[in-house]
Amino acid sequence: MNDNHYDVAVIGGGPAGYPAAIRAAQLGLSAVCIDDWKNEKGERLFGGTCLNVGCIPSKALLESSELFHRAETEFSVHGIKVGGLGLDVAAMQTRKAGIVQQLTTGIEALFKAAGVVGIKGRGKLLAGNRVEVKTDTGVETLSATHVVLATGSVPVELPMAKFDGKRIVDSTGALAFTSVPKRLGVIGAGVIGLELGSVWGRLGSEVVILEALDTFLYMADQQIAKEALRHLKKQGLDIRLGAKVTSATVQGDVVKVGYESGGAAQTLECDALVVAVGRRPYTTGAFAQDVPVQLDKRGFVEVDAHCRTSVPKVWAVGDVVRGPMLAHKGTEEGVMVAELIAGHVAEMNYKTIPSVIYTAPEIAWVGQTEAEVQ
Ligand SMILES: Cc1cc2nc3c(=O)[nH]c(=O)nc-3n(C[C@H](O)[C@H](O)[C@H](O)COP(=O)(O)OP(=O)(O)OC[C@H]3O[C@@H](n4cnc5c(N)ncnc54)[C@H](O)[C@@H]3O)c2cc1C
Repeated sequence: MNDNHYDVAVIGGGPAGYPAAIRAAQLGLSAVCIDDWKNEKGERLFGGTCLNVGCIPSKALLESSELFHRAETEFSVHGIKVGGLGLDVAAMQTRKAGIVQQLTTGIEALFKAAGVVGIKGRGKLLAGNRVEVKTDTGVETLSATHVVLATGSVPVELPMAKFDGKRIVDSTGALAFTSVPKRLGVIGAGVIGLELGSVWGRLGSEVVILEALDTFLYMADQQIAKEALRHLKKQGLDIRLGAKVTSATVQGDVVKVGYESGGAAQTLECDALVVAVGRRPYTTGAFAQDVPVQLDKRGFVEVDAHCRTSVPKVWAVGDVVRGPMLAHKGTEEGVMVAELIAGHVAEMNYKTIPSVIYTAPEIAWVGQTEAEVQ
């Protein structure tokens, strides 16, 4: 074996990929993790969507905005007087960036401790389990007995509401606003739409959330969903169900959104529009054309219950495969795959993956809903 050979090569260093590499190394295998994430400053950081522009920054802003909102609306009831309460969005964003920086660099420390080789670059699986890696300094090829694809997902763009990066944005854009939009439109009342709507609503935006489905949180227990809807509306979120967006155009400083509701055409004007209608698996350039990794109709890498792809010794985990797009689901798959590669017995129980929406109150569930059981 040459120096450039590993037992396990993981392409993607998000919450599915990096734990796979660490677990493999803990079990005595040589492991490399390749990740190409670059932030807006051009810094390359491990951690994927979750740490850079997902779970972590959203939770940082949720906490800041909740504290502000409580100080504004609840403190006086408790007899706590706060004079001159104000908002410094720049400081809030700086705190968020600091948390992201700390956690993403922490992964490199974890790699070092476990003996994982971390490479910041773009990986491409070639035939014969070789991996081409393009870094900022050149191209190299390594080989691995097992390759794990953990290339994640990206936001879905709507053809009638294309991102312009300024006024029509995805979740990443909505986590980076430098001021509070006076009127904020959100397309999609899913987890991300509700969390981001809550953040900016608590900080002062008038938030309208347009949801195409007539059912609120169809995936949750409907008794809980009903109660949550009541609370969120009371907090000022204007959640409009059965509202199908037909157009969104930027006219000067305003976004004009057209939608259909109850058979009638409606319009909404806002200063910024967040499109939060879901994410799609990302496999662009992850494997060469002569590597027969099968994708399903929706573009997910096809895997069996143990995350084996159609190619022997090639595995796939996380958002790029079927199942809920959740960080802990990807992590658990990554750990399972590493253990299987090391010859251990490992299983995933997909029926016990918890889901949480970090609104106030938080909405959480695990297992089947009553409707599913019936
Ligand atoms: C706003 C928001 C909030 C969220 N909040 C939560 C939450 O609270 N809880 C939760 O469980 N989940 C949450 N999620 C979902 C969570 O972020 C994802 O489920 C998780 O990040 C998926 O992990 P992953 O490792 O599969 O993919 P990703 O995190 O997307 O990581 C994939 C990595 O692979 C890299 N990559 C892709 N192709 C290549 C290549 N060819 N070569 C090298 N690298 C490559 C990407 O750059 C990326 O760094 C949230 C998502 C968003 C957007």
